[in-house]
Amino acid sequence: MLLTRKASSNAAPQSRLSLAATSALAKTMDRRTFLKRSGIGVGAGAVASQLPFSMIDRAEAKEDEGKLEVKRTVCTHCSVGCAIDAVVQNGVWVRQEPVFDSPINLGAHCAKGASVREHGMTHDSHRLKYPMKLDGGKWKRISWDQAYDEISKKMLEIREKSGPDSLFVVGSSKHNNEQSELLCKWVRLWGTNNTDHQARICHSTTVAGVAQTWGYGAMTNSYNDEQNSKSLLFLGSNAAEAHPVSMLHTLHAKENGAKVIVADPRYTRTAAKADKYVRFRSGSDVPLLFGVLHHIFKNGWEDKKYIHDRVYGMDEVKKEVLAKWTPDKVTEATGTPEEDVYYIAKTLAENRPGFIIWAMGQTQHTNANAIVRASNILMLALGNVGRSGGGCNIYRGHDNVQGATDVGPNPDTLPGYYPVAVPGSWVHWARVWNVDLDWLKKRYASEAMMAKPGMTVSRWIDGVTEKNEAIDQDPNLRMIFFWGHAPNSQTRGSEMIEAMKKLDMMVVLDPYPSASAAMFAKVRKDGAYLLPIATQFETDGSATCSNRSLQWREKVIDPLFESRTDHMVMYQLAEKLGFGKEFIGQKGTGAPNIELVKGKGGMEPSMASVLKKEINGGCWTIGYTGQSPERLQAHMRNMHVFDVKTLKAKGGKDAKTGYDLTGDYYGLPWPCYGTDKIKHPGSPNLYDTSKAVMDGGGCFRALFGIEKDGVNLLAEDGSYPKGGEITTGYPQFDHVLLKKLGWWDELTDEEKKEAEGKTWANDISGGIQRVAMKHGCMPFGNAKARAVVWNFPDPIPQHREPLFSPRPDLVAKYPTHDDVKVFWRLPTLFKSVQQQAVKDDMAKKFPLILTSGRLVEYEGGGEETRSNPWLAELQQENFVEINPKTAADRGIRNGDFVWVSTPGRNGDGSNTKLKVKAQVTERVGPDTCFIPFHFSGWWQGEDMLPYYPEGAAPIVRGEAVNTATTYGYDRVTMMQETKTTLCNVAKA
Ligand code: SF4
Repeated sequence: MLLTRKASSNAAPQSRLSLAATSALAKTMDRRTFLKRSGIGVGAGAVASQLPFSMIDRAEAKEDEGKLEVKRTVCTHCSVGCAIDAVVQNGVWVRQEPVFDSPINLGAHCAKGASVREHGMTHDSHRLKYPMKLDGGKWKRISWDQAYDEISKKMLEIREKSGPDSLFVVGSSKHNNEQSELLCKWVRLWGTNNTDHQARICHSTTVAGVAQTWGYGAMTNSYNDEQNSKSLLFLGSNAAEAHPVSMLHTLHAKENGAKVIVADPRYTRTAAKADKYVRFRSGSDVPLLFGVLHHIFKNGWEDKKYIHDRVYGMDEVKKEVLAKWTPDKVTEATGTPEEDVYYIAKTLAENRPGFIIWAMGQTQHTNANAIVRASNILMLALGNVGRSGGGCNIYRGHDNVQGATDVGPNPDTLPGYYPVAVPGSWVHWARVWNVDLDWLKKRYASEAMMAKPGMTVSRWIDGVTEKNEAIDQDPNLRMIFFWGHAPNSQTRGSEMIEAMKKLDMMVVLDPYPSASAAMFAKVRKDGAYLLPIATQFETDGSATCSNRSLQWREKVIDPLFESRTDHMVMYQLAEKLGFGKEFIGQKGTGAPNIELVKGKGGMEPSMASVLKKEINGGCWTIGYTGQSPERLQAHMRNMHVFDVKTLKAKGGKDAKTGYDLTGDYYGLPWPCYGTDKIKHPGSPNLYDTSKAVMDGGGCFRALFGIEKDGVNLLAEDGSYPKGGEITTGYPQFDHVLLKKLGWWDELTDEEKKEAEGKTWANDISGGIQRVAMKHGCMPFGNAKARAVVWNFPDPIPQHREPLFSPRPDLVAKYPTHDDVKVFWRLPTLFKSVQQQAVKDDMAKKFPLILTSGRLVEYEGGGEETRSNPWLAELQQENFVEINPKTAADRGIRNGDFVWVSTPGRNGDGSNTKLKVKAQVTERVGPDTCFIPFHFSGWWQGEDMLPYYPEGAAPIVRGEAVNTATTYGYDRVTMMQETKTTLCNVAKA
């Protein structure tokens, strides 16, 4: 129920920007037109109450002027998943309110969430309104039909000449789960693995590091579970700005006595709320973490029984950490005094359970796979993982980056992390998609290319510009689709624009034209199309929060202007390209796998049908099978029954369907195993042996075999999920194990037919999972976590200096990896770049560390949020934080324009420089500069306004820090380096 049915408030004092907007509106519209076109009126009070200004005077629409409907949706601006009630009148989104019943946001929104209704504005909207093409250097309006005709013709021509691998499709965490799954399929039906999305450049190192340690690549617990914690170490997360509403739970934990420590190169707004702030040098995370671990081992504070029962390889790590990371070495590498490192160790040891919390601060480094694993090892040593109140809370960025990773377009996996390199994955998905496998194989250049992971989004520019003989596929990339992706979130922007010069075609599909449009038009006269896409408020579907809970969004309004939904465009383009039937899973004249429904602009796949048939039907590996649309919708209608600390429903029946919510965890956090019929409740905290499997409990996954060099990899006797019939470690369940245990006959006859020859992960009847859980066992087995990951370049995490290190003396001690000839289809440089930088004295020419991060007002590449007048008012230009000493040494005063330059490709900073305002502050130390990454629209001092389509440029434009960031990639995942490079600053 809405708390305020109709708001009427006096206007607050008005700002410059809002005054201008109000006067413009007042001159030209009567109240009715105003309501219809802007959708502001009825919502004035709600918005005004959440923002420090208002453009609204008294507004009193009468209810009989149109039907008022309330649609429940979810904020699209970060992974916390704050729920919103959107009030719609006559099809116009007139007001929004936070959902007070939501167990996640408890009625709170940050500035971004409080102003999402702006996406539904038609007056003075900065959205892309109709399809456009670049023609003679100008953006010109075209029809959808013309766009489809020209794009598909060009694609087929290039395919004919260069093959399917000439295409790269950058997907998005903007997509809901269903659209993500469909896009993953769309690219495979085209015949390439060259697809990726934001997760590569935000949490790929997390996914790899965490999954390889204990099984699943996701946050172990929930934001809510921090209220059950006794200590919270933020290392690489500025949650107060990047995930503001999550701080509700953090601060409740603090009120309850939990100790909060923030370790960061920069004194952040999160640090301002901590009990203790510890500064360390950017990129020296492994020495810091192992410095903490050194004190833990030295004092015998590790959890010995837990390690014995549940961890492989900790002895080896202990030996190395005690010998190598003595306090003097830690301080030498990090710059952090020993007492601070000791304080962290003692606090975490004395306050268990506890969390380590991270986001991009850990993940966006050339050495991030090691940093993530060092964090995991620290939590394992303390016995924190697999229990309420402790573990690794890894904050995702975009609202559905978790879901898009789980089921969406990845270059190496099909939905549910089924590897492209394993033939059985294709058999499984061809069956789920109802597509002929032989046909699918023929779509690829060859079966070998079908099994080869594609390029990554972090390197597409090299796929275009690299010498053809050096790349591991026949053609260079010739076409790129940016399907909801911001190019300024990628490093090496100055090289990206060079790649754009060479492309045959770029297609941007987005509600906002994004910086891609302006960058492309700056250097090209033709070769690009912009297709207007609906926002997530203009469709329904599910999204997965960072804590793995799924939430179902109702459609709030129809797609605005000429925009169409992502999935409609996928379907319509597939038709033009000749695989429309396969896209909806239709063989001959049979019924399609996916139901089509009418949308604005044509027919489109039903989101509920995609969830049910394809995601529930195929993603057995990660437990996306139990979250049917009906269950998720019942959760959305009954948020009030879920407990805020545990997320569990103590009771309650859905009035609409009679569905009994008792025992479910909010949003059925994955894994939610089996079919929806068996009512697995979801898993609030992963690997938690204190709970029964059918109550969301679990154990570490048996993913790496049952022994290594004679050492047992399965859990020891007595370590198993509560109530399980097998009271020791066991391997993954398959048809053989079920038979050996004498449980095979508990399958139905139908299940037996499907389960024969299968494992728990590809038995699409769900029978193997059902029977394993009936006996209290985890379908994926019961094993130890790995402190030593023998299949990584560094089995025990090592510190390796960044490629552009401010400490050449330490490069000799802690060098990076050797160069790699073929890595995700591309040659990748490590040591040669690092050594050249040392040889060229880069640390003297560019003596400051440049790091980047988020602001509370904006999200991601920022194009959507910088187009929102409420948010634009709050943060109007980009800046560099610089320490007072560093500024004084350079004659820089607060507010001066400065040039920030980095080494760049040519090593002299001439093509990698940014004009930004100086913000002189002690938030950064004298050796460090910080620039937020959400800006774009300036190019090395030039405003790019003339290159945007008319009326679709963001309100706030500024330099993109990633125009100047430098080369450097993680050795496992190809994550880009955004957190540690070198720069200099000079007064402009
Ligand atoms: Fe909540 Fe994140 Fe949206 Fe802010 S941006 S309202 S914290 S979901």
